Amino acid sequence: MRESNAELLKAHNLSITPVRLALLKVLSKHPHADAEQIFRIVKKDIATTSKQAIYNTLNTLVEHGLLREIKPKGRASLYETRVGDNHHHLVCRKCQLVMDTDCFDSAPCLTPMDSHGFAIDEAEVIFWGTCPACQSTNPKETEKKHDQCKEKTHE
Ligand SMILES: [Zn+2]
Ligand SMILES: [Zn+2]
Repeated sequence: MRESNAELLKAHNLSITPVRLALLKVLSKHPHADAEQIFRIVKKDIATTSKQAIYNTLNTLVEHGLLREIKPKGRASLYETRVGDNHHHLVCRKCQLVMDTDCFDSAPCLTPMDSHGFAIDEAEVIFWGTCPACQSTNPKETEKKHDQCKEKTHE
């Protein structure tokens, strides 16, 4: 069974605060959300929270390894609770959909042409392209698929 978020915080010697719990809950339901989206959802439950509190909490949880931060070029950082498994991401250039894709091997799964003597422990890959909905030529179909995606990835 998965640890509860409260247990997870405790295991990392972090105090259990309502904002930390709310934020972890949001991200378990909406992986790859950005700070703005997280703020909007958390604010519904905790009216007194601020954007700064969300940013601070995100940074703390990333530092302690409870969250992973990904930074697709040209976008705000995205956050997820799936950490430490070396998975990669697929990003749609058109609609910005982000999806996980398992890595075929343990980190680092890629070897550079020349490591310049580095002891390499990770390769972070973002696969850019066009998602199935955006590839569809039928505009109605595209809309339908995007609605499904939005349900999965947004509020
Ligand atoms: Zn798309
Ligand atoms: Zn992910």
